[in-house]
Amino acid sequence: MHVLVLGAGQLARMMALAGAPLNIEISAFDVTSETVVHPLTKAVIGQGLASAIAAADVITAEFEHIPHDVLDECERSGKFLPTTDAIKAGGDRRIEKALLDNAGVKNAKYAIIETRADFEAAIETVGIPMVLKSALGGYDGKGQWRLKSLGQVETIWQEMAECIAQTPTQAIVAEQFVPFQREVSLVGARGKDGQIAVYPLAENIHVNGVLSLSTAIDDQALQQQAKQMFSAVANSLDYVGVLALEFFDLDGELLVNEIAPRVHNSGHWTQQGAETCQFENHLRAVCGLPLGSTEQIRPTSMINILGQDSVPESLLDTAGVHVHWYGKEKRAGRKMGHINVCASNQPALTQKLIELAKVLDESAYPAIHQLTQQS
Ligand code: AMP
Repeated sequence: MHVLVLGAGQLARMMALAGAPLNIEISAFDVTSETVVHPLTKAVIGQGLASAIAAADVITAEFEHIPHDVLDECERSGKFLPTTDAIKAGGDRRIEKALLDNAGVKNAKYAIIETRADFEAAIETVGIPMVLKSALGGYDGKGQWRLKSLGQVETIWQEMAECIAQTPTQAIVAEQFVPFQREVSLVGARGKDGQIAVYPLAENIHVNGVLSLSTAIDDQALQQQAKQMFSAVANSLDYVGVLALEFFDLDGELLVNEIAPRVHNSGHWTQQGAETCQFENHLRAVCGLPLGSTEQIRPTSMINILGQDSVPESLLDTAGVHVHWYGKEKRAGRKMGHINVCASNQPALTQKLIELAKVLDESAYPAIHQLTQQS
Protein backbone atom coordinates (compact mmCIF):
# COMPACT_ATOMS: atom_id res chain seq x y z
CA MET A 1 0.00 0.00 0.00
CA HIS A 2 1.24 3.48 -0.83
CA VAL A 3 -0.25 6.33 1.22
CA LEU A 4 0.25 9.97 0.26
CA VAL A 5 0.07 12.32 3.25
CA LEU A 6 -0.76 15.98 2.67
CA GLY A 7 1.77 17.74 4.90
CA ALA A 8 5.40 16.83 5.54
CA GLY A 9 5.84 17.41 9.26
CA GLN A 10 6.32 15.19 12.28
CA LEU A 11 2.92 13.52 11.98
CA ALA A 12 3.71 12.23 8.46
CA ARG A 13 7.11 11.15 9.80
CA MET A 14 5.56 9.15 12.64
CA MET A 15 3.00 7.62 10.27
CA ALA A 16 5.91 6.42 8.11
CA LEU A 17 7.60 4.85 11.13
CA ALA A 18 4.38 3.12 12.20
CA GLY A 19 3.48 2.00 8.68
CA ALA A 20 6.76 0.26 7.82
CA PRO A 21 6.09 -3.02 9.71
CA LEU A 22 2.78 -3.36 7.84
CA ASN A 23 4.46 -2.70 4.47
CA ILE A 24 2.59 0.58 4.21
CA GLU A 25 4.78 3.08 2.42
CA ILE A 26 4.35 6.81 3.04
CA SER A 27 5.26 9.76 0.90
CA ALA A 28 4.58 13.30 2.04
CA PHE A 29 3.25 16.19 -0.04
CA ASP A 30 4.61 19.58 0.95
CA VAL A 31 1.62 21.80 0.19
CA THR A 32 3.68 25.01 0.02
CA SER A 33 6.36 23.85 -2.44
CA GLU A 34 4.08 21.31 -4.20
CA THR A 35 6.79 18.68 -3.97
CA VAL A 36 6.60 15.08 -2.81
CA VAL A 37 9.20 14.37 -0.14
CA HIS A 38 10.44 11.37 1.78
CA PRO A 39 8.75 11.71 5.21
CA LEU A 40 11.97 10.97 7.14
CA THR A 41 14.82 12.43 5.08
CA LYS A 42 12.73 15.17 3.41
CA ALA A 43 14.55 14.35 0.15
CA VAL A 44 12.46 15.47 -2.83
CA ILE A 45 11.06 12.40 -4.61
CA GLY A 46 8.46 13.94 -6.91
CA GLN A 47 6.90 17.14 -8.24
CA GLY A 48 3.30 18.25 -8.54
CA LEU A 49 0.02 17.10 -7.05
CA ALA A 50 -1.39 15.30 -10.10
CA SER A 51 1.43 12.74 -10.36
CA ALA A 52 1.49 12.30 -6.57
CA ILE A 53 -2.23 11.49 -6.61
CA ALA A 54 -1.77 9.06 -9.51
CA ALA A 55 0.99 7.19 -7.65
CA ALA A 56 -0.99 6.81 -4.40
CA ASP A 57 -3.41 4.08 -3.36
CA VAL A 58 -4.79 6.25 -0.55
CA ILE A 59 -4.46 9.95 0.28
CA THR A 60 -4.77 11.42 3.77
CA ALA A 61 -3.67 14.54 5.69
CA GLU A 62 -1.57 15.40 8.70
CA PHE A 63 -2.91 18.97 9.12
CA GLU A 64 -6.06 20.89 8.39
CA HIS A 65 -4.85 24.19 6.95
CA ILE A 66 -4.76 22.90 3.40
CA PRO A 67 -5.86 24.99 0.39
CA HIS A 68 -9.33 23.91 -0.69
CA ASP A 69 -8.29 23.51 -4.35
CA VAL A 70 -5.72 20.90 -3.25
CA LEU A 71 -8.34 19.10 -1.17
CA ASP A 72 -10.86 19.21 -4.01
CA GLU A 73 -8.37 17.71 -6.47
CA CYS A 74 -7.66 14.90 -3.99
CA GLU A 75 -11.39 14.39 -3.43
CA ARG A 76 -12.00 13.99 -7.16
CA SER A 77 -9.50 11.11 -7.26
CA GLY A 78 -11.78 9.15 -4.91
CA LYS A 79 -8.71 8.21 -2.82
CA PHE A 80 -8.95 10.79 -0.02
CA LEU A 81 -9.78 9.82 3.57
CA PRO A 82 -11.01 10.75 6.25
CA THR A 83 -13.21 13.09 4.07
CA THR A 84 -12.37 16.54 2.81
CA ASP A 85 -15.38 17.93 4.76
CA ALA A 86 -13.68 16.95 8.02
CA ILE A 87 -10.41 18.63 7.00
CA LYS A 88 -12.28 21.78 5.97
CA ALA A 89 -14.09 21.82 9.34
CA GLY A 90 -10.78 21.45 11.18
CA GLY A 91 -9.36 24.41 9.27
CA ASP A 92 -12.28 26.81 9.71
CA ARG A 93 -13.83 27.41 13.12
CA ARG A 94 -17.17 28.50 11.53
CA ILE A 95 -17.58 25.14 9.77
CA GLU A 96 -16.38 23.33 12.91
CA LYS A 97 -18.97 25.03 15.12
CA ALA A 98 -21.78 24.25 12.63
CA LEU A 99 -20.61 20.64 12.48
CA LEU A 100 -20.68 20.29 16.28
CA ASP A 101 -24.17 21.82 16.44
CA ASN A 102 -25.43 19.51 13.68
CA ALA A 103 -23.99 16.47 15.46
CA GLY A 104 -25.80 17.59 18.65
CA VAL A 105 -22.55 17.86 20.57
CA LYS A 106 -22.20 20.40 23.41
CA ASN A 107 -19.79 23.28 22.80
CA ALA A 108 -19.32 26.84 24.07
CA LYS A 109 -21.94 29.42 23.02
CA TYR A 110 -20.65 31.51 20.12
CA ALA A 111 -21.24 34.16 17.49
CA ILE A 112 -19.50 34.98 14.19
CA ILE A 113 -17.94 38.43 13.82
CA GLU A 114 -17.15 40.12 10.50
CA THR A 115 -17.99 43.74 11.34
CA ARG A 116 -17.87 46.09 14.30
CA ALA A 117 -21.68 45.76 14.57
CA ASP A 118 -21.29 41.95 14.81
CA PHE A 119 -18.79 42.50 17.63
CA GLU A 120 -21.29 44.69 19.54
CA ALA A 121 -24.00 42.05 18.99
CA ALA A 122 -21.67 39.26 20.20
CA ILE A 123 -20.96 41.19 23.41
CA GLU A 124 -24.73 41.13 24.04
CA THR A 125 -25.45 37.52 23.07
CA VAL A 126 -22.26 35.71 24.12
CA GLY A 127 -21.32 37.97 27.04
CA ILE A 128 -18.09 38.96 28.76
CA PRO A 129 -15.63 37.36 29.43
CA MET A 130 -15.27 36.06 25.92
CA VAL A 131 -12.58 34.33 23.88
CA LEU A 132 -12.16 35.55 20.30
CA LYS A 133 -10.55 33.27 17.75
CA SER A 134 -9.72 33.81 14.10
CA ALA A 135 -11.86 31.44 12.02
CA LEU A 136 -8.98 30.59 9.68
CA GLY A 137 -5.34 29.86 10.32
CA GLY A 138 -5.21 29.87 14.13
CA TYR A 139 -3.46 27.11 16.06
CA ASP A 140 -1.61 26.68 19.37
CA GLY A 141 -3.44 29.71 20.81
CA LYS A 142 -2.36 32.01 17.93
CA GLY A 143 -4.89 34.48 16.48
CA GLN A 144 -6.80 34.72 19.77
CA TRP A 145 -7.92 37.49 22.08
CA ARG A 146 -9.48 37.54 25.54
CA LEU A 147 -12.15 40.19 26.17
CA LYS A 148 -12.46 40.61 29.93
CA SER A 149 -13.94 44.11 30.19
CA LEU A 150 -15.64 46.71 27.99
CA GLY A 151 -12.53 48.90 28.33
CA GLN A 152 -10.66 46.51 26.00
CA VAL A 153 -13.23 46.59 23.18
CA GLU A 154 -11.56 49.34 21.13
CA THR A 155 -8.03 47.88 21.22
CA ILE A 156 -9.18 44.34 20.52
CA TRP A 157 -11.41 45.50 17.66
CA GLN A 158 -8.43 47.26 16.01
CA GLU A 159 -6.41 44.03 16.10
CA MET A 160 -9.30 41.84 14.96
CA ALA A 161 -10.16 44.23 12.11
CA GLU A 162 -6.55 43.99 10.93
CA CYS A 163 -6.70 40.20 11.10
CA ILE A 164 -10.01 40.13 9.15
CA ALA A 165 -8.59 42.46 6.49
CA GLN A 166 -5.49 40.29 5.93
CA THR A 167 -7.32 37.23 4.55
CA PRO A 168 -10.28 37.47 2.12
CA THR A 169 -12.63 34.98 3.85
CA GLN A 170 -11.44 35.60 7.40
CA ALA A 171 -13.85 36.14 10.33
CA ILE A 172 -13.68 35.89 14.11
CA VAL A 173 -15.54 33.36 16.23
CA ALA A 174 -16.53 34.87 19.58
CA GLU A 175 -16.88 32.17 22.22
CA GLN A 176 -18.20 32.29 25.75
CA PHE A 177 -15.30 31.94 28.21
CA VAL A 178 -15.57 28.48 29.82
CA PRO A 179 -14.28 28.38 33.44
CA PHE A 180 -13.12 24.77 33.04
CA GLN A 181 -11.26 22.71 35.66
CA ARG A 182 -9.14 20.91 33.12
CA GLU A 183 -8.70 20.12 29.45
CA VAL A 184 -8.96 16.57 28.16
CA SER A 185 -8.98 15.02 24.71
CA LEU A 186 -10.20 11.83 23.15
CA VAL A 187 -8.29 10.27 20.27
CA GLY A 188 -9.92 7.39 18.44
CA ALA A 189 -10.29 5.73 15.08
CA ARG A 190 -13.25 4.90 12.86
CA GLY A 191 -12.82 2.19 10.23
CA LYS A 192 -14.32 1.92 6.75
CA ASP A 193 -16.95 -0.43 8.19
CA GLY A 194 -18.00 2.19 10.79
CA GLN A 195 -16.28 0.38 13.67
CA ILE A 196 -15.07 2.83 16.34
CA ALA A 197 -12.20 2.26 18.77
CA VAL A 198 -11.12 5.02 21.17
CA TYR A 199 -8.11 5.39 23.46
CA PRO A 200 -8.45 6.42 27.10
CA LEU A 201 -8.90 10.17 27.56
CA ALA A 202 -5.75 12.23 27.99
CA GLU A 203 -5.51 15.17 30.39
CA ASN A 204 -3.68 18.01 28.67
CA ILE A 205 -1.70 20.85 30.19
CA HIS A 206 -1.17 23.83 27.89
CA VAL A 207 1.19 26.65 28.78
CA ASN A 208 0.76 29.90 26.81
CA GLY A 209 -1.63 28.09 24.48
CA VAL A 210 0.86 25.32 23.61
CA LEU A 211 0.48 21.70 24.73
CA SER A 212 3.22 20.76 27.19
CA LEU A 213 2.06 17.57 28.93
CA SER A 214 -0.54 14.86 28.14
CA THR A 215 -1.32 12.00 30.48
CA ALA A 216 -3.71 9.13 29.80
CA ILE A 217 -6.35 9.06 32.55
CA ASP A 218 -8.87 6.57 33.85
CA ASP A 219 -12.25 8.27 34.41
CA GLN A 220 -15.07 6.04 33.24
CA ALA A 221 -17.87 8.63 33.54
CA LEU A 222 -15.98 11.18 31.43
CA GLN A 223 -14.79 8.46 29.04
CA GLN A 224 -18.40 7.45 28.30
CA GLN A 225 -19.48 11.03 27.63
CA ALA A 226 -16.46 11.62 25.42
CA LYS A 227 -16.99 8.41 23.44
CA GLN A 228 -20.63 9.27 22.82
CA MET A 229 -19.63 12.71 21.46
CA PHE A 230 -16.79 11.20 19.44
CA SER A 231 -19.18 8.72 17.81
CA ALA A 232 -21.72 11.46 17.05
CA VAL A 233 -19.10 13.59 15.27
CA ALA A 234 -17.35 10.70 13.49
CA ASN A 235 -20.61 9.10 12.31
CA SER A 236 -22.06 12.42 11.13
CA LEU A 237 -19.04 12.81 8.83
CA ASP A 238 -18.81 9.13 7.84
CA TYR A 239 -15.25 9.65 9.02
CA VAL A 240 -12.47 7.12 8.30
CA GLY A 241 -9.19 7.41 10.21
CA VAL A 242 -7.99 8.85 13.51
CA LEU A 243 -9.89 11.82 14.88
CA ALA A 244 -9.25 13.85 18.04
CA LEU A 245 -11.79 15.78 20.08
CA GLU A 246 -10.51 18.36 22.57
CA PHE A 247 -12.80 19.08 25.52
CA PHE A 248 -13.21 21.40 28.46
CA ASP A 249 -14.12 19.54 31.65
CA LEU A 250 -16.57 21.82 33.44
CA ASP A 251 -17.66 20.20 36.71
CA GLY A 252 -17.73 16.75 35.12
CA GLU A 253 -19.58 17.92 32.00
CA LEU A 254 -17.65 17.89 28.74
CA LEU A 255 -17.88 20.65 26.14
CA VAL A 256 -16.04 20.21 22.85
CA ASN A 257 -13.43 22.93 22.32
CA GLU A 258 -12.25 21.80 18.92
CA ILE A 259 -11.82 18.84 16.63
CA ALA A 260 -8.63 17.74 14.89
CA PRO A 261 -9.35 15.55 11.84
CA ARG A 262 -6.03 13.71 12.12
CA VAL A 263 -3.56 12.07 14.46
CA HIS A 264 -3.02 14.44 17.37
CA ASN A 265 -0.26 15.64 19.69
CA SER A 266 -2.29 14.48 22.72
CA GLY A 267 -2.25 10.94 21.27
CA HIS A 268 1.54 10.58 21.02
CA TRP A 269 1.57 8.75 24.37
CA THR A 270 -0.02 5.76 22.56
CA GLN A 271 3.36 4.97 20.95
CA GLN A 272 4.53 3.46 24.25
CA GLY A 273 1.32 3.36 26.29
CA ALA A 274 -1.20 1.55 24.07
CA GLU A 275 -1.43 -1.80 22.31
CA THR A 276 -1.56 -0.06 18.90
CA CYS A 277 -0.40 3.53 18.47
CA GLN A 278 -2.56 6.23 16.89
CA PHE A 279 -0.33 6.42 13.78
CA GLU A 280 -0.72 2.72 13.02
CA ASN A 281 -4.45 2.89 13.64
CA HIS A 282 -4.87 5.84 11.30
CA LEU A 283 -3.08 3.89 8.55
CA ARG A 284 -5.06 0.73 9.28
CA ALA A 285 -8.31 2.70 9.00
CA VAL A 286 -7.55 4.54 5.76
CA CYS A 287 -6.10 1.38 4.17
CA GLY A 288 -9.27 -0.56 5.01
CA LEU A 289 -7.52 -2.92 7.46
CA PRO A 290 -9.02 -3.99 10.81
CA LEU A 291 -8.34 -1.48 13.62
CA GLY A 292 -5.75 -2.47 16.21
CA SER A 293 -6.58 -2.63 19.92
CA THR A 294 -6.64 0.80 21.60
CA GLU A 295 -6.18 -0.71 25.05
CA GLN A 296 -3.79 1.09 27.39
CA ILE A 297 -0.90 -1.17 28.41
CA ARG A 298 0.72 0.99 31.11
CA PRO A 299 0.43 4.45 32.73
CA THR A 300 2.04 6.88 30.27
CA SER A 301 2.60 10.62 29.85
CA MET A 302 3.87 12.58 26.88
CA ILE A 303 6.00 15.69 27.35
CA ASN A 304 6.58 18.01 24.39
CA ILE A 305 10.14 19.24 23.78
CA LEU A 306 9.76 22.94 22.95
CA GLY A 307 12.62 24.84 21.30
CA GLN A 308 15.47 22.48 22.21
CA ASP A 309 17.39 19.97 20.12
CA SER A 310 19.09 17.86 22.75
CA VAL A 311 18.24 16.17 26.04
CA PRO A 312 20.59 15.10 28.85
CA GLU A 313 22.06 11.69 27.99
CA SER A 314 20.91 10.37 31.36
CA LEU A 315 17.35 10.35 30.00
CA LEU A 316 18.21 7.63 27.51
CA ASP A 317 19.53 5.62 30.42
CA THR A 318 16.25 5.79 32.35
CA ALA A 319 13.84 2.85 32.12
CA GLY A 320 10.43 3.83 30.76
CA VAL A 321 11.68 7.04 29.10
CA HIS A 322 11.44 7.22 25.28
CA VAL A 323 12.65 10.17 23.24
CA HIS A 324 11.14 10.91 19.82
CA TRP A 325 12.84 13.61 17.72
CA TYR A 326 11.21 15.18 14.66
CA GLY A 327 14.43 16.09 12.79
CA LYS A 328 13.46 19.76 12.68
CA GLU A 329 15.63 22.85 12.74
CA LYS A 330 15.78 24.47 16.18
CA ARG A 331 13.55 27.52 16.71
CA ALA A 332 12.37 29.16 19.93
CA GLY A 333 9.23 27.47 21.23
CA ARG A 334 9.00 25.05 18.27
CA LYS A 335 7.78 21.49 18.86
CA MET A 336 11.09 19.69 18.28
CA GLY A 337 10.16 16.26 19.63
CA HIS A 338 8.48 14.60 22.59
CA ILE A 339 9.32 12.28 25.45
CA ASN A 340 7.03 9.43 26.42
CA VAL A 341 7.34 8.45 30.05
CA CYS A 342 5.96 5.13 31.32
CA ALA A 343 5.67 3.66 34.81
CA SER A 344 4.00 0.70 36.47
CA ASN A 345 1.42 2.81 38.32
CA GLN A 346 0.09 6.38 38.39
CA PRO A 347 1.92 7.62 41.54
CA ALA A 348 5.20 6.21 40.17
CA LEU A 349 4.54 8.05 36.89
CA THR A 350 3.97 11.36 38.69
CA GLN A 351 7.16 10.80 40.68
CA LYS A 352 9.10 10.11 37.49
CA LEU A 353 7.84 13.36 35.92
CA ILE A 354 8.92 15.27 39.04
CA GLU A 355 12.38 13.65 38.84
CA LEU A 356 12.63 14.62 35.14
CA ALA A 357 11.84 18.25 35.99
CA LYS A 358 15.14 18.32 37.93
CA VAL A 359 17.14 17.79 34.73
CA LEU A 360 14.91 19.47 32.12
CA ASP A 361 14.58 23.27 31.63
CA GLU A 362 11.41 25.04 32.64
CA SER A 363 11.30 27.01 29.36
CA ALA A 364 11.14 23.84 27.25
CA TYR A 365 9.10 21.68 29.65
CA PRO A 366 6.88 24.09 31.62
CA ALA A 367 4.13 21.67 32.68
CA ILE A 368 6.37 19.22 34.56
CA HIS A 369 7.80 22.17 36.50
CA GLN A 370 4.24 23.18 37.43
CA LEU A 371 3.71 19.61 38.70
CA THR A 372 6.78 19.96 40.91
CA GLN A 373 5.51 23.23 42.35
CA GLN A 374 2.13 21.63 43.14
CA SER A 375 3.59 18.57 44.88
P1 AMP B 1 -7.78 26.59 20.97
O1 AMP B 1 -6.83 27.08 19.94
O2 AMP B 1 -9.21 26.80 20.63
O3 AMP B 1 -7.50 25.18 21.40
O4 AMP B 1 -7.48 27.49 22.28
C1 AMP B 1 -6.23 27.49 22.94
C2 AMP B 1 -6.44 27.43 24.43
O5 AMP B 1 -7.18 28.58 24.88
C3 AMP B 1 -7.27 26.23 24.89
O6 AMP B 1 -6.46 25.11 25.03
C4 AMP B 1 -7.83 26.74 26.22
O7 AMP B 1 -6.86 26.63 27.24
C5 AMP B 1 -8.07 28.20 25.95
N1 AMP B 1 -9.47 28.43 25.49
C6 AMP B 1 -9.92 28.31 24.23
N2 AMP B 1 -11.25 28.55 24.17
C7 AMP B 1 -11.65 28.84 25.41
C8 AMP B 1 -12.91 29.17 26.01
N3 AMP B 1 -14.02 29.28 25.27
N4 AMP B 1 -12.95 29.37 27.34
C9 AMP B 1 -11.82 29.28 28.10
N5 AMP B 1 -10.60 29.00 27.59
C10 AMP B 1 -10.50 28.77 26.28
